[in-house]
Order: sequence, then C-alpha cells, then structure tokens
Amino acid sequence: MSGKTHAVVGANAVWVAALVYPLGNEVPVLLAIGALAALLPDIDATSAKIHYMGSGALGVFRGVFHHRGFFHSFLAISIIAILTQLFLSSYHPALPMVMILGYASHPIIDGFNKPGVEYFFPWRKRIRLLPKWLTTPVNGVVDQLLFIAGVAGIVFLMTTYSDLFSVANVMLY
Ligand SMILES: [Zn+2]
Repeated sequence: MSGKTHAVVGANAVWVAALVYPLGNEVPVLLAIGALAALLPDIDATSAKIHYMGSGALGVFRGVFHHRGFFHSFLAISIIAILTQLFLSSYHPALPMVMILGYASHPIIDGFNKPGVEYFFPWRKRIRLLPKWLTTPVNGVVDQLLFIAGVAGIVFLMTTYSDLFSVANVMLY
C-alpha cells in the first residue's frame, strides 16, 4: 500500500489501545506514533535499492533487506514487540501496543496487494491474504478505500476526544 494509507491505518492502533488503557492527553501523540510505526517496515524499500547496487559480501543481507521480506515478517513484529515492551512501556503503558499494532498493520494490509508478503521470513514464500483476483496494486482501489477508512477512524477518534483537539484547548496550553 502507499505510505499515506499505511500512516492513517497505523494511527488507528490508538482505537485498540483506548479499549485497554484509559487514554486522555496522550491521544494526539499516540496517533502520530502509530502512524510513524506503520511507515517503518518500508525502510526495506529504500535500503533494497542501495543494496542491489552492491554484491558479494552484501549478498548475505539480501534476504533481510529484500522488500517485503524480514521487515514485513512475523519475526520483525515479534522483535518490535519485545523491544517496545522492554524499553518503552515505562514511558507509557499503551506505547508498546500502539507501536506493535501500528507496525503490524503495515504487512497485514500489504497482503491485499498483488505481490504478497514474506510473512514467515526467513522462509522466502510470498503470501497474499486475498485470492489473486481480489488483490489490487499499490494506489489501486483497495488502497484508496483503506485510506478513506483510516481517515474516518482518525476523525471519529478526534471527535471522541474532541476537547484535546479543539483550537481553544490548544491555545490554553
Ligand atoms: Zn510495505
């Protein structure tokens, strides 16, 4: 999916966190963190380009930095889960959940795209979450619909916590 779609869908991780943790003032910050976490897996899209220019010893990293490989896998999600739990839960109890769900939302919706995702990396099998005839390319119909749904989710969340997002309130700070 496109970056904008990943960002708005990832921000909706805050919805789930709000069901588990009592949230208040931290909602705007958590929205931003969910969006950023959802953009992280595509660091392999840029590093892959750099990598393919090299060869030899760098070939060891081919699988790791291959687009929709390691960074889109359950292995990467598990590592993110452990690291955020260890290092970020002391900042805010909802922080690991928002980061894990934001990050995990990325490979999940990428699974609706035609190329598929290597969920079980280091097993290099690309898996689609929909039958091939239902999958769409990046920026296709499903991409646009997910973007709209993601924005709607954020708007509903902002309405729920409207006092945090009102102009008057921001000016009081
Ligand atoms: Zn991706």
